[in-house]
Amino acid sequence: MARIELENITKRYKSMAADTFAVDGLSLDIKDNEFFVLFGPAGAGKTTTLKLIAGIEFPEEGLVKIGGNIVNLIEPMNRNVSMVFENYALYPHLSVYDNIAFPMRSPLHKKDEAYIKEAVERVVKMIKIDGLYERKPSQLSNGQRQRVAIGRGLVREPNVFLMDEPLAHLDAKLRHFMRGELKEMQSAFNTTTIYVTHDFMEAMSLADRIAVLNKGKIEQLGTSLQMYYTPANEFVARLFGEPEINIFPAEAGSENGALVLKALGQEAPLVPEEDAAQILKEKNIRAVDVGVRGNDARFSLAPRDSSWIKGSIYAFEPIGNKVIMTVDVNGEKIRIAAPNSTSADLDQAVYIKFDMKHAIYFDSDSKVFITRSEIEKYR
Ligand code: ADP
Ligand code: MG
Repeated sequence: MARIELENITKRYKSMAADTFAVDGLSLDIKDNEFFVLFGPAGAGKTTTLKLIAGIEFPEEGLVKIGGNIVNLIEPMNRNVSMVFENYALYPHLSVYDNIAFPMRSPLHKKDEAYIKEAVERVVKMIKIDGLYERKPSQLSNGQRQRVAIGRGLVREPNVFLMDEPLAHLDAKLRHFMRGELKEMQSAFNTTTIYVTHDFMEAMSLADRIAVLNKGKIEQLGTSLQMYYTPANEFVARLFGEPEINIFPAEAGSENGALVLKALGQEAPLVPEEDAAQILKEKNIRAVDVGVRGNDARFSLAPRDSSWIKGSIYAFEPIGNKVIMTVDVNGEKIRIAAPNSTSADLDQAVYIKFDMKHAIYFDSDSKVFITRSEIEKYR
């Protein structure tokens, strides 16, 4: 168990373009025993950050602290950090038991067999693979193999447990299942854990806190709900939620503070909730980007009046618990989450009304968050 601090860390690889950094002035303060998620697109610098903590890479600038001690010059094997990768290479010729025991048999950390047995039994309970001791990795399912890799990572009781997209290669169903399993296991980990993923559902369901990383920098640091309800900018808003949030430029219209979506070529007015309207007015903002999630758009296949936006169905994708309906409005695409029972034909006319109670407003130029309705509720 340990607090982890990164202070102004910079790392660039020699082959990178002159002005690009894998990690760019990154600072993080991760609490003792926290389950912390690093989230972001491919190339954001997530793996590099883990390697800097593990000591596999060294920062050009900045300090790495574990448990209050600067570890920049400490070798990986002396940091008591354990790392599980996406390609959790188990030793194929070793049994489950011996795979998990392996880190305690290395020359540096060698323990006696009675100690090892106790430690293996402790993690085996945690990862729920009782009765599979004698199996070889080839006799396990993908999910079981991943659990053995996690067990191997935890057996030495590391100060810091790093997991790099451990579920990324599993199929969707198993990934979902393992996410639940990890959630259950995590209270038993009893160690500071940093978990890397590019799957927003994983990030949201597992994290105490999330850092959204992009181009080696933090876009936002906070809880799952903060990412979803008060995203720091449009980049973060687009990463959380399925379907992706709809964001449209809007301008103040003539009527009582209503906004008009010029991009949609229709005059259907969007009326911000009073509190949001007040803030836009105070700041004298006449042009904003309005974000509305697919869950917050109503639709009707029957004709509606001109306060509804008219479009046609462009795509219709059932994704299990809902249908993602993409609607074309003058060439712009609006994504709507529809109930599973919805049946509709491509090109069919559809009428949309945004629920402005959940709209999120961004600065059109900087793409930075301005406000949302009922903001106090989400702070
Ligand atoms: P992520 O894990 O978020 O996908 P990485 O930390 O692996 O991102 O990579 C961050 C950036 O650093 C990327 O632009 C990547 O191409 C570059 N990079 C990572 N490892 C190396 C390396 N060994 N040599 C050169 N460039 C690298
Ligand atoms: Mg990576």
